[in-house]
Amino acid sequence: MPASPFPPPSQSSQEPDDYDSESLSVEAARQRISGDIQPISAIESVSLRSALGRVLAAPIISPFNVPNHDNSAMDGYAFRSEDVEPTPPPPLRIVGTAAAGTPYLGHIEPGTCIRIMTGAVLPSGADCVVEQERVAIHDNYITFSAPVKSGMNCRRAGEDLQAGQTALATGKLITPADLGLIASLGQTEVRVFRKLRVAFFSTGNELTPVGTALAPGQIYDSNRYTLYGMLLQLEVDLLDLGIVRDDPALLESTLQSAAANADVIITSGGVSVGEADHMKALLKKLGRVGFWKLAMKPGRPLAYGRIQQAHYFGLPGNPVAVMVTFYQFVREALQRLMGQATPPLIPLLLAECTAELRKRPGRTEFQRGTLQLTSDGIWKVQPFRSQGSGILSSMADANCFIVLPEAQGNVPAGSPVQVQPFHGIL
Ligand code: AMP
Ligand code: MG
Repeated sequence: MPASPFPPPSQSSQEPDDYDSESLSVEAARQRISGDIQPISAIESVSLRSALGRVLAAPIISPFNVPNHDNSAMDGYAFRSEDVEPTPPPPLRIVGTAAAGTPYLGHIEPGTCIRIMTGAVLPSGADCVVEQERVAIHDNYITFSAPVKSGMNCRRAGEDLQAGQTALATGKLITPADLGLIASLGQTEVRVFRKLRVAFFSTGNELTPVGTALAPGQIYDSNRYTLYGMLLQLEVDLLDLGIVRDDPALLESTLQSAAANADVIITSGGVSVGEADHMKALLKKLGRVGFWKLAMKPGRPLAYGRIQQAHYFGLPGNPVAVMVTFYQFVREALQRLMGQATPPLIPLLLAECTAELRKRPGRTEFQRGTLQLTSDGIWKVQPFRSQGSGILSSMADANCFIVLPEAQGNVPAGSPVQVQPFHGIL
């Protein structure tokens, strides 16, 4: 049974605050979220090209062998391997040509061969191909000295996929390779899970939409743009609910309408313990709190729970924390909800850290750095100069997270550290 994401029933009247003192580890938070995920089940049919980035809702079964026929893997000459068993092999007479799309319809008789191009169907009787570079031609006969084996330079019918075989399983995120594979089976429509609906909004009295002049003390709302960009990389339907002031009534009605219209709600800001931070109390009032405090940096206040059937992620307000928590938790949860069967692969590699890192044990940290391959073939990572969770340029300029585990303390310069390259995940 997956672990419940929600705290056990309260023994006391201080229920939510039981969780104030205990920050959840990154791994425990991941498990709680994944234990709470129930993938959407509604299915739709889409045209092949529109299936890119969607998740297969039914397996793709090969209706025939791929390739359909034995065919040549080389430009050369096709013949019967037994004809050239004597050494030196006797010359073979050229009796025809086969090209891709234009088969040779005759039978290969003993002592004969045909000229054959890559992808052309292997004619009946022939069982091997010798590449043209190894052949000498005299008076319509070929000779060669190379050793020959049955099946040489041939692709066998069904060697890629056999008729009736599952080519792609339910739950597969459809990649460019999959589009090609489905096309190679002649299919024009694909059964996929319906798109996930994701509602998101920013909270904060200080936030101003871009395109408007800033009043004193105001800042532009950048989180909705990073969130938009990150969400757009997944095939989800977006519901942008704008900026909502730190007003409990407004926040409540926005959360209610988001829950009525979306599978997932993502907000930024208002999840800490300041006077203007209402999101956790509202989550408790309107739904259930799974957790809201993590042993990680950036991203310590991260609320997860449910409002009606919708999954709620209350991300911190700090712009770097928004991105870190999205990539470390939300992205995988969305992919699971979309019906993806296996969690996405997030590669980690070891690199030598070029500078000392300050780090307190007791929380997982996701610092930003620049990963480079040195001329002597060693991966080195240089930490970004400023690791503040409000410094969005650290995400824009860096190319990887430096992942420092919970128990880790300060890291001396030259030590190996785990890095997670942005490329491929962002
Ligand atoms: P909060 O989590 O609401 O306390 O916000 C933490 C910090 O993030 C504050 O400095 C906010 O001004 C900033 N912040 C919150 N929301 C946004 C946003 N949408 N865009 C840019 N900065 C924000
Ligand atoms: Mg705020």
